[in-house]
Amino acid sequence: MPKVISRSAVSSSTDAQPTPSSATNLRVYYCLCGDFILVIEKSLASLPRRKTDNAIIIRAQDSEGHKAKIFKLNARPAIEPVLIERDGGHEKQYRFSCARCSLNIGYQTSPTQPPFLYILPGALSQIQGQVPPEAFDGENAT
Ligand SMILES: [Zn+2]
Repeated sequence: MPKVISRSAVSSSTDAQPTPSSATNLRVYYCLCGDFILVIEKSLASLPRRKTDNAIIIRAQDSEGHKAKIFKLNARPAIEPVLIERDGGHEKQYRFSCARCSLNIGYQTSPTQPPFLYILPGALSQIQGQVPPEAFDGENAT
């Protein structure tokens, strides 16, 4: 009987997992159009949400007891703020959008040195080209 040698074992390199850049554990997020938007040290899912609109809160400035998140946002800021009605008043939102498809990604409430950035729920996906399940949430809201 000839010996059968499984050739599939020869070229098997699946054991060698690509090592993620070791020191950091950065998460990358993409617009629905696939453009790179955000790199951040923590998962967006782990960040607090705003009560008013469920936006994800990214702390952008250090304050007492809280460190700013390390992140880089690749989006186009709007020059003119948008006025949003909130309980007990209005809020100015300086929105930023995807540079490629102009989709609104999020906003900040101050044009310079904002304490927080807000990311709209469902605006970003961690997998390039995949629509997050949240993307259509609130579509029927009036
Ligand atoms: Zn886009």
